Amino acid sequence: MNLKIIRSVQTMMDEIKMLKDKTIGFVPTMGYLHDGHLSLAKEARKENDIVAMSIFVNPLQFGPNEDFERYPRNEEEDRRRAEKIGVDYLFIPKVEEMYPEKMGINMSIHQGTDVLCGKSRPGHLDGVITVLTKLFHIIQPTKAYFGLKDAQQFAVVNTLVSELNFPIKLVGLPTVREEDGLAKSSRNVYLSDNERKEAAVLYEALTFGQKLIVDGIKNPVTIIKEVKNFIAKKTSGKIDYIELLSYPDLSEIRAIESRVILALAVHFNQARLIDNIILEADGTHVSKID
Ligand code: AMP
Repeated sequence: MNLKIIRSVQTMMDEIKMLKDKTIGFVPTMGYLHDGHLSLAKEARKENDIVAMSIFVNPLQFGPNEDFERYPRNEEEDRRRAEKIGVDYLFIPKVEEMYPEKMGINMSIHQGTDVLCGKSRPGHLDGVITVLTKLFHIIQPTKAYFGLKDAQQFAVVNTLVSELNFPIKLVGLPTVREEDGLAKSSRNVYLSDNERKEAAVLYEALTFGQKLIVDGIKNPVTIIKEVKNFIAKKTSGKIDYIELLSYPDLSEIRAIESRVILALAVHFNQARLIDNIILEADGTHVSKID
């Protein structure tokens, strides 16, 4: 099937209805597609009859002083990249199409949101679950594909889908990285040349933390302190958070006894970058969850 670009909610729903019992793999994105997004689409292509991808920079998930207005956008290039992978539908609604009026309903999630980005970006995860609820109803996917780069988002979407009984299977896929380890992100374009070089420290710090766990250190406080020092020494970026929590429930822990996430956020001049690594108690990397 040739790629179809759809901008209207009603047209998208009509198309989905015509697909009847075909399996649909869905990849929600904010566009400015890179290899991370495309890895999700490739997996969706392998596992489903139809692949739908959405491109929507969702104002509800941005705070008042965040980068909604200047978030990078390039529809033409996105279209070329999606087409190459064999995406069937690109759903690109305008803000007015998704939110024709001020919402009369608020969705709010409290599980797993008082830590990490949930704490640093109040309302962000509520915005994420609101838009995903709408997108899941519009697309009605069999499976939805997410990157573990946004591991808290993946945990929260799991809660959404299981507690509100969406008949959707979620797939969490590995973080795609640049050669020096920096996680691919649409926001990397905000970095100056010097910051771009320094940004590799995020992943170096995570693998350093992983090594401490493999070496048998079980105390999260010790690991966080070491990782903090590691980052502070190597970059001008300001640490927003470094946390070591259980995964997927994102609770604080006294000792590493089961699956954990080591996650961090660092502010550079124009960009706030996040990264994480999910590990078993012995330090083995968990790269995929499905
Ligand atoms: P975004 O456009 O940033 O909202 O991301 C859309 C989807 O792509 C989310 O599920 C992200 O977790 C995923 N994603 C973003 N960056 C990467 C990456 N480097 N590797 C894998 N998945 C990613």
